[in-house]
Amino acid sequence: MKVAIIGGGMAGLSATYYLQQLGQGAIDYVLIESSSQFGGKVSTIRESNFVVEGGPDSFHALKTAAVDLCRALNLDEELIGTNTEARKVFVWSRGKLRRMPEGVMLIIPTKITPFLKSGLISWPGKLRMGLDLFIPRRKDDSDVSLADFVRRRLGKEALDRIAGPMVAGIYVADADHMSLKSTFPRFLEMEKKYGSLLRGIITQKLETARSKKKEKDSLNTPGKAPNSNFLTLRGGLQRLPEALVEKLNPRSLLLNRKVETIRREGTTYDLTLDDGSHIKADAVVFATPTYVTSDIVKGLDSKLSEKLKTIRYVSTATVSLGYRRREVEHSLSGFGFVVPRSEKRKIIACAWSSTKFNWRAPEGYVLVRAFVGGASAEELAEQDEASLLQMVREEMRDSLGINATPILNKVFRWRKGNPQYDVGHEERVAEIDRLTTQHEGLYMAGAAFRGVGVPDCIADGKRVAQLIAEKAKTLVK
Ligand SMILES: Cc1cc2nc3c(=O)[nH]c(=O)nc-3n(C[C@H](O)[C@H](O)[C@H](O)COP(=O)(O)OP(=O)(O)OC[C@H]3O[C@@H](n4cnc5c(N)ncnc54)[C@H](O)[C@@H]3O)c2cc1C
Repeated sequence: MKVAIIGGGMAGLSATYYLQQLGQGAIDYVLIESSSQFGGKVSTIRESNFVVEGGPDSFHALKTAAVDLCRALNLDEELIGTNTEARKVFVWSRGKLRRMPEGVMLIIPTKITPFLKSGLISWPGKLRMGLDLFIPRRKDDSDVSLADFVRRRLGKEALDRIAGPMVAGIYVADADHMSLKSTFPRFLEMEKKYGSLLRGIITQKLETARSKKKEKDSLNTPGKAPNSNFLTLRGGLQRLPEALVEKLNPRSLLLNRKVETIRREGTTYDLTLDDGSHIKADAVVFATPTYVTSDIVKGLDSKLSEKLKTIRYVSTATVSLGYRRREVEHSLSGFGFVVPRSEKRKIIACAWSSTKFNWRAPEGYVLVRAFVGGASAEELAEQDEASLLQMVREEMRDSLGINATPILNKVFRWRKGNPQYDVGHEERVAEIDRLTTQHEGLYMAGAAFRGVGVPDCIADGKRVAQLIAEKAKTLVK
C-alpha cells in the first residue's frame, strides 16, 4: 500500500513515523513538504550559544504523546523541564508588571492566600469571583465562548485581567470567540459536576494531595521525564523533528515540493506537485493548514473544500532578543508576562526564555521572547521584520526598562499560522470528518482539528497512522 503524507510539520512527521512503525513493511510512504526543512512550526535557531525558538518552546507533559515519542526516539536524556523555582508569571496591568497570584490555573485561583493578597484584582473583583460558589450551573450542554463562561461565573475583571490575557498568550485567541468545549472542556465538566469552579478546584486539590506521595516516589525512578508540567529538549524543540527524520527512509522524504491538486483515478489518488511531477498513492494524509488543504481538494470535493475554509487562522510573530546580562537591570525572575487587551499595548506576551529554561542563553547573557499579533492584532504581526523589531524593543523598554541594544535578534513571522477554535468547533470538525470519510483512503490530521499543542498534533498523526495500518492489514489478508 502506498501512502502520501502532505505537510512535514509535527502531525505529518508523526503520521509518517508511526506508519513506518505500524506498517511493518506493508506500507510504502512518501512525505512531501513545501519548505526547506521538516518540523513546520517547530523551528529552532542555534546561534552563538543561544537557543532561540521560533514557534513552540515546550510541550505539555501530561498529554503524553510527545513524551512517549521522545522516549521512542531515545531523547529522554535531552528532556528538560521549566525552572520550577522561578515559576512566576506577571501581568502588565495599569502601567506595571503585577504578579499573577500564585496557583492561578488559567482562569481560576487554586490558592486562596496569594490570591487575596494580590493587587491584580480589586476587592469588588475578588468578591465577584467568590460568587462562583453560588451561581447555578448551566442547564444545557451547548458550546459557549470562554469569555461568556468566565464573565458569568467569575466576573468581568477575572476575564479582563486573568483569563483573557492567559488565553491570548497561549492560544493567541480572542476569548469572545473561543470555544470552551474544544479548548477547556475541563472547566465545563467542573461546572457540571461540582456546580462551581472554586468548589471543583478545592475538591480536586484534596484528591491530588492524597495521591501526592505516590507521585513523589515515582519521581526518583530512573528514566522518568523531569518533574515539570512543561518540557522541552536541551538543544531546542527542533531536536524532535530532527530525530524523527533520522528514523525515516531518506528516499521517501521530499523537501521544497508543494502539492497543488489531487485527483481520483480509479482506486488511487494522483497528486500534482508544483514542479509538474505526479505522485500516485492508495491513501493520502493531509497534514497541512486547512486553508491549504481546501485549495488542494477543490477539484475533488467542493463541499469539503468549502467546509475546510470555515476554520479561521490568525497571524502571529515572535521576536527574540538576546542581551548582555549586565545591561539588563530587571531581575527577569519568572517565566514572563501576559498583557490584557485593555492595556492597548503592542505585544500580547513576553517569555523570559533564559529564566524559564536552562541552556537558552550563554553565561552572562539573557534571552527574552515577545509574542505579537493574534486574534486582536494580526496586522502588527504582518509588519516587516525591521518594524517588528523596533516595536518590540520599545515594548521591552516600557515594560522591563531595557534600553540596551540586543546582541542577537530573531524574528519569526507566522502568517495565518494559528488555527482558531471558535464556538461550534466540534461540529465543524465532525462535518469535515464526515465529508472526508466519503473518500476512501483520505485522512486529515493537524493543529486545526483536535488540539493545537505539539502533543495533540503528534497524537492526531498517530491516530491517522493507526487507521491506515489497520486498513493495510485487512488488504494483506
Ligand atoms: C508562535 C507559536 C508558538 C507556539 N507555542 C506552542 C507551545 O509552546 N507548545 C505547544 O504545544 N504548541 C505551541 N504552538 C502550536 C504548535 O506549534 C502547532 O500547533 C503545531 O506545531 C502544528 O503542527 P502541524 O503539523 O499541525 O502544522 P504545521 O507545523 O503548520 O505543519 C504544516 C506543514 O505543511 C507544510 N505545507 C503547507 N502547504 C503545503 C503544501 N501545499 N504541500 C506540502 N507541504 C505543505 C508547511 O510548510 C508545514 O511544514 C505554537 C504555535 C506558534 C505559531
